[in-house]
Amino acid sequence: MRYVSTRGEAPPVTFSDAMVRGLAPDGGLYVPDSWPTVEASTGSGLHEVASLVIGAFLDGDPLATSVDSICKNALSFPIPIVRDESGTYLELFHGPTAAFKDVGARFLAECFDRLEDRERTILVATSGDTGSAVASAFSGKPGIDVGILFPRDGVAARQRHQLTCWGGNVRSLAVTGTFDDCQALLKQALADPRWRAERKLTTANSINIGRLLPQVVYYAYASRELAQPSGSGIGVIVPSGNVGNATAALWAKRIGFPIREVVMALNSNATVDDYLASGEWRPRPSVETLANAMDVGNPSNMERIFSLYPDVDRLRRDVRSFVVDDATIREVIRSRALASGRVLDPHTAVASQALGLVDAGEPWLIVATAHPAKFETIVEPLIGRAVELPPALAEQLARPSSFATIAPSLGELEGAMSR
Ligand SMILES: *Cc1c(COP(=O)(O)O)cnc(C)c1O
Repeated sequence: MRYVSTRGEAPPVTFSDAMVRGLAPDGGLYVPDSWPTVEASTGSGLHEVASLVIGAFLDGDPLATSVDSICKNALSFPIPIVRDESGTYLELFHGPTAAFKDVGARFLAECFDRLEDRERTILVATSGDTGSAVASAFSGKPGIDVGILFPRDGVAARQRHQLTCWGGNVRSLAVTGTFDDCQALLKQALADPRWRAERKLTTANSINIGRLLPQVVYYAYASRELAQPSGSGIGVIVPSGNVGNATAALWAKRIGFPIREVVMALNSNATVDDYLASGEWRPRPSVETLANAMDVGNPSNMERIFSLYPDVDRLRRDVRSFVVDDATIREVIRSRALASGRVLDPHTAVASQALGLVDAGEPWLIVATAHPAKFETIVEPLIGRAVELPPALAEQLARPSSFATIAPSLGELEGAMSR
């Protein structure tokens, strides 16, 4: 199995090479050059399904012999399927930083850990969940220097603490600027030949194939657990921003798992919804919402979806979308807590609202992407009580916090990463 660029102008590479590069040299995103078939009925339990699925995608890769241990270490927390009156949920938030990004970040860290030359620098620009997941996953990994760039005034107090409590090989850098400034600085460093060569710089953002692939696993697993042998498969409702998680669901469907359709639940950043309606792709600047990890106006993983579905009509048969505004997010959090006792984070609330808009009668799975305790300033006033902290989160919040403040310039970044 080789990996090729969505733009078709880069040589095919192994999974390991695609992961180390992040972005293909032609600016495209890596996708597999062919689709493995995985017998959907084989394997039982999350780890067995993981080894089968990842093993198929890593066929011929130097990491192929380590698939079992990579999956076991990366998926070291439960991913339960939980039913209550309000729906069936795939809870992806039981990892160390309480959001689904732990799955991709931990898988990536396990893979990097097993590369032959593992000395490198990993930078990530973040406005929240990605940074803490990457910091947690790479914390203490020998040979790897991590830099987390976040907007100094653009993250909530609890989020900031989660980004700055690691120490050791993780440097937390508060950038005097916006998230876009952080991302621009990261791109500048990635484009700099000296950073690439001397520091062996790479990035762990969501375009990396090593973050996307492990997400296929939980869709494969859940669809197998829930689909009826004679039915048309399950529908999954995915709170979506950069649409990586929804892409993973479509890849699970593509390799033969019983997924009927994928619903992208969107906040007011409606670029994908407009595309499905009009057939025209018109990216735009993002707008701020309560579900801030989905504030994306130009979703990067759409490029992978275009390569899987060159024809929009074909895409419309497998994918629908719904847009949910902030007032509705608030209402959903309040009403679900009253009706079923389930406390939703703002991202999962978007998916829960979408459930009310699709055909009842078919089996649906709501993807729960974050623990509500991460968004307590939004959630607690709406439900009128405190949300209990998951133990890992409580432990992080009890650690000391430390970070350096830098201006968005390569010189300052260099200085901070050299200390
Ligand atoms: C990142 C994130 C999303 C969006 O996922 P994409 O793969 O970018 O579509 C949704 N919910 C939460 C909590 C997130 O952290």
